[in-house]
Amino acid sequence: MTMMNTELYIDGRWTAGTTEIENWNPSDVSDLIGLYSQASADQLDEALAAARRAQPIWWAAGIQKRHDVLMGIGTELMARAAEIGRIVAREEGKPLAEGTGEVYRAGQFFTYFAAEVLRNQGDLAESVRPGVEIDVRREPVGVVAIVSPWNFPVATPAWKIAPALAFGNAVVWKPANLTPASAVALTEVIARQDIPAGLFNLVTGPGRDVGQRLVESRDVDAISFTGSVPVGRGIAASAVTNMTKVQMEMGSKNPMIVMDDADLDLAVGHAAGAAFGGTGQKCTAASRLIVHSAIHDAFVEKLVVAAQAYKVGHALDEGTQIGPVVSESQLTQNMDYVTLAQQEGAELLYGGTRLDRPTEGYFMAPTVFAGTRNDMRINREEMFAPITCVIKADSYDQALTIANDSEFGLTAGIMTRSLSRASHFRANMRAGCVMVNLPTAGTDYHVPFGGRGASSFGPREQGRYAAEFYTTVKTAYVAAGTPE
Ligand code: NDP
Repeated sequence: MTMMNTELYIDGRWTAGTTEIENWNPSDVSDLIGLYSQASADQLDEALAAARRAQPIWWAAGIQKRHDVLMGIGTELMARAAEIGRIVAREEGKPLAEGTGEVYRAGQFFTYFAAEVLRNQGDLAESVRPGVEIDVRREPVGVVAIVSPWNFPVATPAWKIAPALAFGNAVVWKPANLTPASAVALTEVIARQDIPAGLFNLVTGPGRDVGQRLVESRDVDAISFTGSVPVGRGIAASAVTNMTKVQMEMGSKNPMIVMDDADLDLAVGHAAGAAFGGTGQKCTAASRLIVHSAIHDAFVEKLVVAAQAYKVGHALDEGTQIGPVVSESQLTQNMDYVTLAQQEGAELLYGGTRLDRPTEGYFMAPTVFAGTRNDMRINREEMFAPITCVIKADSYDQALTIANDSEFGLTAGIMTRSLSRASHFRANMRAGCVMVNLPTAGTDYHVPFGGRGASSFGPREQGRYAAEFYTTVKTAYVAAGTPE
């Protein structure tokens, strides 16, 4: 396959980094995707300075310009979804259809926020002082640092970059080092637009070096991060030190309750899809299946049949439903969790093994554990693996208590035919997104996304709620009769 050697994008120019990394295909470790530049500290500073210069120019360009640029990016992403989706599939390992869907969705984030540009309307207020007029407007925060993960290498940055630009900010983006090709593809689409030099900058490099410097920089006004909890904690600490606005999406341990009155086949389909889709590497994955004892055995039996039926293989092969795990270290971590689960007393019903395929890659069988307890580490820690754990519960109340017993609170689901239970769950489940008779994974692009507890920190992402993070509010008082 073709090699794609690429560079950083700083101040409106493609620039070589000081070093390079090799980027390998997780479906076929003999396939070198390309060599990718790594930014130096000086190059990061250059990007930050360029962003600072470009931001007021972009803000002054006005809403029609910003709308048109975002619409242009979104339209191109949607039109080229299959082409760019192939890059995502080759590099991240998700099946081609998922890669294509992700890029199309990324386009929708841009077209949605293109429309939001035109809706940036303020408020008028009467003053308690006669003769004084008040208005409240949203203004850009300034330079936004975006640090994104590898599991949705185009969609996650898109839902951050689109509102950042829509509301008049400049961006310095540090993508995950595992997925630089997707980052370059998205940057090429953005760079094709007529935007001020420096408005959008791509600085690839190691998180602990380039990422850390970026989030610790005093030249950044706001940080939007998606990734792991430990890195998030570090970012929050430096943001507080610098008084930088921060928004973070992190780990999860999403529960799905399956009640005794659920449509069993629907429940199994939703549970399996949410647990194993994207190789389980989704922050919305269903990792704790809390199943009523009356239907537990029947559910588990069907779940195993569903897991066995998945076709695991090369992400670019037709018919593949589950691609490889993203990297060797992630696969090693997954296998360690399989061992840990058994040591903790969980019963391995299916999977738990590496799989051999015609190409050498990081393939793992979808894995089902039963007989698990909520206090086991496999039910406390985010595994980010195609592993799901069944917990038996004797009643709805017990199931809800278990579901809420987690440091995380991103998504949560219930499968039931009872309207009153569904309503109770919706009101009493501590999570940012609750799903009734739907999988825990799968969200829309025009409404807020985020969680509670250790899952999220700061204002919500997406939909009109995104304005809270990407803007700052200014209240103006004007004496109506002020002399010239
Ligand atoms: P990280 O949190 O390490 O990486 C996320 C992003 O942060 C990447 O761009 C990374 O760069 C960058 N980064 C890493 N260290 C720093 C730092 N000190 N300062 C600033 N930026 C940094 O997650 P991983 O990719 O290593 O995944 C580890 C685990 O995190 C997964 O197994 C999963 O449990 C969880 N995770 C959760 C996600 C979610 O959506 N909930 C998404 C991704 C991961 P680089 O790639 O160069 O290291």
